Amino acid sequence: MGAIESAARAGTRVDIDTVSVDAYTIPTDRPESDGTLEWSATTLVVVHVSAGGVRGFGYTYADRAAATLIAGKLAPLLQRQDAHDIPARWSDMARELRNVGVPGLGAMAMSALDTALWDAKAKRFGVPLATLLGRARQDIAVYGSGGFTSYSDDELCDQLGEWAESGMRFVKMKVGRDAHADARRVRAAARAIGTTELFVDANGAYTRKQALAQADSFAANGVSWFEEPVSSDDLEGLRLLRDRAPAGMAIAAGEYGSTPWYFERMLDTVDVLQADATRCGGISGFLGVDPLCDAQGLPLSSHCAPSLHLPLMCAARRGVHLEHFHDHVRIESMLFDGFQHPANGLLRPGERPGLGVEFKARDAERFRC
Ligand SMILES: [Mg+2]
Repeated sequence: MGAIESAARAGTRVDIDTVSVDAYTIPTDRPESDGTLEWSATTLVVVHVSAGGVRGFGYTYADRAAATLIAGKLAPLLQRQDAHDIPARWSDMARELRNVGVPGLGAMAMSALDTALWDAKAKRFGVPLATLLGRARQDIAVYGSGGFTSYSDDELCDQLGEWAESGMRFVKMKVGRDAHADARRVRAAARAIGTTELFVDANGAYTRKQALAQADSFAANGVSWFEEPVSSDDLEGLRLLRDRAPAGMAIAAGEYGSTPWYFERMLDTVDVLQADATRCGGISGFLGVDPLCDAQGLPLSSHCAPSLHLPLMCAARRGVHLEHFHDHVRIESMLFDGFQHPANGLLRPGERPGLGVEFKARDAERFRC
């Protein structure tokens, strides 16, 4: 069969046969905390969608409750529907979740399924997802992200220093648990990474006035990115920081966004918009954020889940960098066959059809929850 015939065959209607969901809780390698939360494990919710002889894989980092929502409400809805018409499936899922609520957990459940549908579609066409979406660039810069507030100064400097040495142009650490300790930790980290740019993330821990003071102190150590200096719900506070932070320091937020309305409201409050495809409706949801950034002239940076964001950040025209988050890198390198490690600070999608990674169910069994 010729290529055109095979593409035409792949493009015909194909029913969804089965939808399965599993959840796993993976302990962290060390206790972890940021400015507002402490944790010792991460839950991964994995879905598989079978259609037309291929098996699509999708995932989200969420509570186990997302798996309950998928099994009880969304999986029965998708069965025997056309796997290729993803916008229709997306609208069906959003409608089904109306009374439960799409923002938050509902959108995380939708994200995993949407991703699995896109993975299946790309596999059905026999092309990498980046090819199906179309590339805006061949590779994407990554930034190492960790530097938890639970780390000693030595642990912090070792982790950030290793990423800088590997060729990453940016690295990120957590701040916000103790304003006095932050000044010391940021100074130490800046010394450890040389000319690599230092990003900080307060996870909404500071008040507006604290954040303004910290912005000046961090800028003196060359910090070029201040993420969630105040709560992401305080849009006026974010705007205040954006307008008054020192020149050369970007204010960023957006990681909790579920819906287009959330991102639309955030456009006029930040210098760089962040989005997370495991939370904002999967690949379809994330691709809806890119044109919003375009309309406002904002850069777009992806949050966590590096395997999922690799093809997306090569497709997003406003994409600037991808977060190489310690926890998720550890989980995905252990449980995703085909996981890619950055080379000289860059990631480039491979040639495998679909997302490019497959879930190693047998290796994950011991983490089942
Ligand atoms: Mg963050």
